[in-house]
This record gives sequence, C-alpha cells and structure tokens, in this order.
Amino acid sequence: MRYLPVCLSLQDAPVTLVGAGIVATRKARLLCRAGAQLTVIAPEATGELQQLLAQHGGKWQQRAYASGDLAGSTLVVAATPDSAVNAQVSRDAGGLNLPVNVVDSPELCSFIFPSIVDRDPLLIAISSSGQSPVLARLLRRKIESLVPAAYGRLAQFAGRFRDRVKTALPEDTPRRLFWEQAMEGTIGEQVMAGREQRAQELLEQRLAETDGLYTGEVYLVGAGPGDPDLMTFKAVRLLQSADVVLYDALVSAPILEMARRDAKMIYVGKRRADHAVPQEQINQLLLDLALEGKRVVRLKGGDPFIFGRGGEEIELLAQHRVPFQVVPGITAASGAACYAGIPLTHRDHAQSVRFVTGHLKDGSSNLDWDSFRSTTETLVFYMGLVGLPQICAQLTAHGRSGDTPVAVVERATLDEQRVLTGTLATIGGVVEREQPKAPTLIIVGSVVQLHQSLAWFGEA
Ligand code: SAH
Repeated sequence: MRYLPVCLSLQDAPVTLVGAGIVATRKARLLCRAGAQLTVIAPEATGELQQLLAQHGGKWQQRAYASGDLAGSTLVVAATPDSAVNAQVSRDAGGLNLPVNVVDSPELCSFIFPSIVDRDPLLIAISSSGQSPVLARLLRRKIESLVPAAYGRLAQFAGRFRDRVKTALPEDTPRRLFWEQAMEGTIGEQVMAGREQRAQELLEQRLAETDGLYTGEVYLVGAGPGDPDLMTFKAVRLLQSADVVLYDALVSAPILEMARRDAKMIYVGKRRADHAVPQEQINQLLLDLALEGKRVVRLKGGDPFIFGRGGEEIELLAQHRVPFQVVPGITAASGAACYAGIPLTHRDHAQSVRFVTGHLKDGSSNLDWDSFRSTTETLVFYMGLVGLPQICAQLTAHGRSGDTPVAVVERATLDEQRVLTGTLATIGGVVEREQPKAPTLIIVGSVVQLHQSLAWFGEA
C-alpha cells in the first residue's frame, strides 16, 4: 500500500494554494467545503475563485510564488501551469515537512486527492494510488448509483443518537448489533424516508425493550442444491454479513467462499452415517452464539423447510426470544428437475408432485404406500438411495407398474451431475452398476421420459 487513506480535519486550518486557474479553482472548492482557511498565491485568479475566497474569508496574494510563502501552513496544494514553480513548491513543502499535493504530478506529491462520493457526513474515498484516476472516477460513478443519497441523513441521525445509545448500551458488541439492526431495519428506513420523529420513537422503544441485553441474530438460510448461482440475493447478502457460519455436507465449497474472510466457519456434518454434531447440539450452538451477540448464518442445503429440520432449529431460538429469519432456497427437487430436463409436472404426464422422504425408519413401514398409486403424480424421494430397492418394491407392490420411469439424479446442479434412468423394475441394477455418490434424488413418474428430449447436457 503506497498511500494511507485518512480523513483530515481542515476546519479553520491555514492552507496554501499556489495557482488560481481552472484546476486550482476545483481544488479550492473542495478545500473551502472542508472548512480550510485558504491563502491563494497567483498573479491572476478565476472569477469563481475570487468569489469563493470572498465567501469563505480566504486571502488572495496577487503575485508570483516565492520560497518562504509556506510558513505557517498546515497543508499545501500547487496547481500552476508552470512545472518549475510546482517543483519548487513541492521542495519547499518537503523542507518544512508539510503535506503537499501537486496536481497531476504524483512524483511531487506527499498526498493525493481521492475521488469522493459525498453523502456528508458519510464520505467514500476511492483512490488508484495515482495509477489511474479515470478508473477511480468510473468506480465512483458506480458507487454513486449504489449508495442512496439518504445515507448522509442516516449517518447524521446515528451521530445525533450516538451518546444516547452508548449510555443505554455501554458494551461494545450489543451496541454494534443494535446499530446494525437499526440501520438495516425499520429505523433506518424511516430515517431515509425523512420521518426522523418516528425513527426516534422506534429507537427509544427498541432501547427500552432490550433492557441492555442485546442478542445477535440467526439466519436460517437455504443455500440451494449446490450451484452457487442458484442462491438468492438475500442468502448472499446475509451470508456476507455473518460473523459465524454453520454449514453441513450438502453446502458446496464455492458457496462457502462467499462468506466474509474473517467469519468463523463451523462444520456440523450430516451425511447419512456421519452425524458430526447431533441435532440438539446444533440447536444449542445456534442459541449460544446468538446470545454472545453474533450474527449467525445456518446454511442449509436446498430449502431449510424441506427435509431440513429447519423448524427444530428455530424452536429453541423462539423460546429464548432470539431474533431469527428463515430464507427460502431452491430445493433439490427443483434444482435436479430443471438441470436434468425433467419437468416435475406436465400437462400430458403429471398434474401433481409429491416430495417424500426416502429415509425409511423401521424398514419401510412408516410411509403410506397406498397413497402413491396415482400414475399422474410425480414422486420425488429425498434421502432415498439406500432405501431404493425397498422404495421400488413397495411402489410396485402397491399398484405402480414395473415400467414406471425412474431417474436417479446424482449431485444435481453441480459440475459432476449425472442422471441415471431406468424403471421401477430396472433402476436397482443401474444403480448397482453405476454406484452414484450422495447426494442423490430419485424422481418417479412418466415425466422422466422427457429427460431424453429435454436434457441439454447429454448425460447417461
Ligand atoms: N433441505 C434440502 C434437503 C435436505 S435432505 C433441500 O431442500 O433440498 C438431503 C437430501 O436432499 C439428500 O439425501 C438428497 O436426496 C437431496 N439433495 C440435496 N442436494 C442434492 C443435490 N445437489 N443433488 C441431488 N440430491 C440432493
């Protein structure tokens, strides 16, 4: 890093500006806005600059620059068309250890001006370390469009209540959490909409409710079936805000990489025979982390409320009045169906679809097999690979034809996706031969026939 970005207070500070042309005027505008007490040295000055000086109580010394002019300054800017003069100013300032900027000559500068997005009191400075001011300006334009104009108002509001909140929440973490939630939630919205009175009432109400005990939040986030592009904007936003991320085996590596670099990542396991952390402990961990004031993201494969035990994980939080949000995700059935070219419903094939757990307790007795007879209903079995032979046998025994098409979609939506097809009578043999790896999803019904014509990846 060649430069250190700092925010310098120039209120009433004596600043010398050498030069008074158009470029110097631009700098003068900025320096006056920051409250500097400007002395301009130049034989001639633009009208605007003279006006600025009159408005802000600056001085114009109408003559050529001379060594010795910089005594008593806190900051120096040179912007004359004469490079010898500019170099002289730079040398003189260096001799006095004064910060100096020479416009368009990085080698003569001890500081440079960044591009700024001004949402006073909120300031965003962008610098290319003098390498490409154009790039910095382009980036500024992008940021300009991203940062609402009302953010300045929000910063001002926070400034007004800073001491009030500090008194109510003297500890750092609860206070930080309070502000984060206030800014991103209703309070922030009210301020930006210009309803500061309402925002203030809400702020007081929140402070009263929290009783000084402020907890973190838990977000139960559906990460989709694997392809990171299938995450929702909300999932990505919350993931990037998390202090701690709990994830299990279904969540793919590129998704985990979207978390903040400094976030703590905790693997809580969960493959069939690999319950790294028992469910009760996961529930407790979520609660404990939130009570420590952390923003916790619990990343779940697919959708948290579809075979995700999402309900259990938030029960304990609700009991302890820890705020939480559940963010839906694309469930494996949707992901697998779309990426394999198997519509789950189709006018000519299926009028309904059912998501069924294939994780059969006590063998197979816990499913109502009689209810799966309909030939116009697509069945999707989650967690069904181990139980596949029983699933096929039971469906056949309860009225589904042995010719009913079946697809096993392995690692759906990921680069390694494979689609194995057969029928209730033959799929067992196909799986035996191909040995697909978890996770796999089983789709049963005549829609599977469409795979041949609709798949665009050309799997088996
Ligand atoms: N909440 C998840 C399901 C969790 S149960 C969801 O909504 O998708 C775990 C089962 O989901 C796995 O056994 C498998 O059947 C299915 N599954 C999840 N991701 C999958 C993927 N990428 N490909 C195939 N099946 C998947």
